[in-house]
Amino acid sequence: MSTQEQSGAATTRTQSPDAVVVGAGTAGCYAAATVARAGYDVVVIERKSETEAGHIACGDALKGADAFPEAIPKSKLEPAFTNTGVDHGRFEIPQEDTVLEIPVPGELAVIDRWEYGRRIIEGAGDAGVEFHYDTVVKNVVQADDGRVTGVEAVRKGDPIEYESDIVIDAAGSLSVLQDNVDFSDSTFDTNVDYTHFCSAYREIVHVDEPVEWSDALVFKPTERAAGYLWYFPRTETEINAGLGFQMTEEPMQLVDDLKRDLENRPEFAGAEVEDKLGAALPTRRPYDSAVHPGYMAVGDAAGHVNPTTGGGIAGAAYAGKYAAEQAIEALETDDYSEDTFWKYNERVMDHFGARYAALDVYNILSTAVDVDDLMGLLAAMPGDKLAEALYSGSTDIGLKLKLEALLKSRGHWGTIWNLYQTKRRADELLSHYENYPTSPEGLAGWQDRRDDLMEKVYETTGAEPKY
Ligand SMILES: Cc1cc2nc3c(=O)[nH]c(=O)nc-3n(C[C@H](O)[C@H](O)[C@H](O)COP(=O)(O)OP(=O)(O)OC[C@H]3O[C@@H](n4cnc5c(N)ncnc54)[C@H](O)[C@@H]3O)c2cc1C
Repeated sequence: MSTQEQSGAATTRTQSPDAVVVGAGTAGCYAAATVARAGYDVVVIERKSETEAGHIACGDALKGADAFPEAIPKSKLEPAFTNTGVDHGRFEIPQEDTVLEIPVPGELAVIDRWEYGRRIIEGAGDAGVEFHYDTVVKNVVQADDGRVTGVEAVRKGDPIEYESDIVIDAAGSLSVLQDNVDFSDSTFDTNVDYTHFCSAYREIVHVDEPVEWSDALVFKPTERAAGYLWYFPRTETEINAGLGFQMTEEPMQLVDDLKRDLENRPEFAGAEVEDKLGAALPTRRPYDSAVHPGYMAVGDAAGHVNPTTGGGIAGAAYAGKYAAEQAIEALETDDYSEDTFWKYNERVMDHFGARYAALDVYNILSTAVDVDDLMGLLAAMPGDKLAEALYSGSTDIGLKLKLEALLKSRGHWGTIWNLYQTKRRADELLSHYENYPTSPEGLAGWQDRRDDLMEKVYETTGAEPKY
């Protein structure tokens, strides 16, 4: 439904779909497709043009593609998977002159991210979603009782208002929507700071000769500041090369630092750069609650990224699905309260949120230990156990491996002890997140206990409090 209203010089057009989704990224497309498949009118508002939409800064590594939500069929995405032969990580540790080969569990593909972006938009379109491009959301509309009832946007200079019982914020990192909502009467997490983000940049690089590591994701610590470089092979000759650093650190010169590393690698001699993009991504725990009456945040807008790997595509897709399923329940019962949306928070925590919160403990540790020491220790650890730790948030090392690792890692025993204690703290936190409350009323008590556990994390690691 669309109406027009004359106010002063500008005419404000008004649209009234059942649900409004802001952002045509992964979270937005999966959320919108899920709601549309239930028979509701859904509009996705995207600030980019139709041609640019889906062009998003990314390392192009897609993990868990085998089990993506079905609202957009996997067959739709597959043509964007340019390399499905990757099965391990290659960690280059120059400080130790070592390369660690670490298996990556589950299905992994390196993708052409823009093509993938276009395909999820097409998939959501097939499900019945309407896309409004070149439309920038500027403000969120709230009723007197605080409930969100729509958004205000500008399309090519013209104001446009969307009235809707459901607003899904899928606007990515540092979503501007959240600056405009008064969350004082809801559980929505506002404990968000720029230091919880990583600044990252990547280039698509073409080389003449096939690289030797086309079956691996290559990682390498950066020289300055806590961060890492990556080289992910889209094909044997097309590489996504990038780097990022945590915003707690001194800013890095991302473009120059990447250039220097590329120049030092013989396989990139004479390489051509095709595309350059940078962005921020959340490397923190997921929001304690991403719901407010009439409003849910999903994907990067709610911190749904693995804080140790920076992988956020899978989390965004699932968050989109889970939020959409609560949106459908709200539309069916005409109840847009936090109680109706709460199940969304619970499903996120249950699926990946608890794990990501535990992994964040290792991020916190990394801000407090000496990087060279940590790298030395990593070089001494068994690779499969490292992989387990990276993805599960916890690992159990048998006695024989423990002794072997201990012998190899002489000189790093202080760090090992620190890591061991930190793992215990991460495990405690994981157990606590596994008991995430079943209603908004339980959140404050749960947060108090969690904050006590975080105090112990800071004590153990010696790190500055992050939240
Ligand atoms: C450099 C880099 C490398 C990364 N590498 C990987 C990787 O290899 N693998 C992986 O899984 N993840 C990676 N990530 C993380 C991953 O890209 C994100 O987690 C994922 O894209 C999140 O999806 P999203 O839908 O939440 O947000 P986004 O994909 O950011 O989508 C948000 C959308 O909202 C639109 N938007 C924003 N504000 C407005 C507004 N006001 N009005 C209208 N539209 C708006 C944007 O234009 C955009 O289209 C990387 C991130 C970066 C920055």
